[in-house]
Amino acid sequence: MPRILTVIGARPQFIKASVVSRAIQQTAGIEEIMLHTGQHFDANMSDVFFNQLGMPRPAIQLDIHGGSHGEMTGRMLTEIEQAIVEHKPDRVLVYGDTNSTLAGALAAAKLHVPVAHVEAGLRSFNTAMPEEINRILTDQISDLLFCPTAAAVNNLNAEGFGQKPVRVLQPGDVMQDAALFFSRHAVAPKGLPSMISATEGHGTSRTNGDGGGFIVATLHRAENTDDPERLAAIVTALNRAHREVAPVVLPLHPRTRAAVERAGLTLAVTTIDPVGYFEMVWLLNHCGLVLTDSGGVQKEAFFFGRACVTLRDQTEWVELVEAGANELVGADQARIEEAARRHFGRRVVDTDHLYGGGKAAQAIVDTLTGS
Ligand code: UDP
Repeated sequence: MPRILTVIGARPQFIKASVVSRAIQQTAGIEEIMLHTGQHFDANMSDVFFNQLGMPRPAIQLDIHGGSHGEMTGRMLTEIEQAIVEHKPDRVLVYGDTNSTLAGALAAAKLHVPVAHVEAGLRSFNTAMPEEINRILTDQISDLLFCPTAAAVNNLNAEGFGQKPVRVLQPGDVMQDAALFFSRHAVAPKGLPSMISATEGHGTSRTNGDGGGFIVATLHRAENTDDPERLAAIVTALNRAHREVAPVVLPLHPRTRAAVERAGLTLAVTTIDPVGYFEMVWLLNHCGLVLTDSGGVQKEAFFFGRACVTLRDQTEWVELVEAGANELVGADQARIEEAARRHFGRRVVDTDHLYGGGKAAQAIVDTLTGS
């Protein structure tokens, strides 16, 4: 029976791993040991997802966060290596593009334990992003590459993966599995003005209506939070959209809260603490527009039939831009405001099953068990 060591550590990885973990539990002949690096550790960035998403508590809990990228990744490498030696997995499973992803993959590869990468092949072609480095290197040392999209497969083919002794597969995107599975649990976040919490919802994509009267925003990418000019432009645009287009609800990432304070900026929108996934799903399902620099939230907007304005210069989810569901506006204040006005209330429909239709987790587990 294959024993899988799953390495996770950051918010989006808890959500992605939850659906694969459920599929593993429902499949005979495969065992999973979960390792949490501790990269995200706050109650509302970590615990809430284990409580909501029905995932077992990680058997191995590390406590590694903060410090520089090198320091964090190095400490993870040391401790994950020890866990691999002790638990002797047949394979290590990693998700996405964080330092936990790279450390898990590298520790395994050096010990000759095969690596499976969920969300392989994504590229922004911007190596200034720490995530891009993590993705490229993780793909290089994986032998099972689970691509969420056709674009990701094409990227790997262009990098010569077709000639390597590895398997490039396209099971679809586990985040669509999660959105479909958990949409029935949607619950309004606490602390919203009553005008917003009373908004009617419309179900997931294909059945949704015109969207609600507010904008949901998320902001946490280092290229925005760590650049005072970009951050100031985005904060000003959010404040103006809040005043002139529709109320903006912003669950504030701890990194962004600190950066806004450091830069002496004022957010005049409805800020709330980071929310759990059920609350996030409620916001996505009730809003009239999504403004974000998150990778996952760009797709979730689409899954819930909402247009997305993306506060980045590139995206890994190019098919959304091609489908007209997503517009990239960078950190340009005027473009953000103009796009928010133009897209607010617009519906988008997934006619092409760009992300596989919610069957990715089982396909991944079938591959892992060799069935
Ligand atoms: N998310 C959440 N609560 C929040 C903000 C985001 O549950 O307050 C979820 C969101 O719905 C998505 C995931 O976290 O599933 C995205 O994570 P994040 O934006 O941190 O990372 P990225 O996708 O950019 O790697």
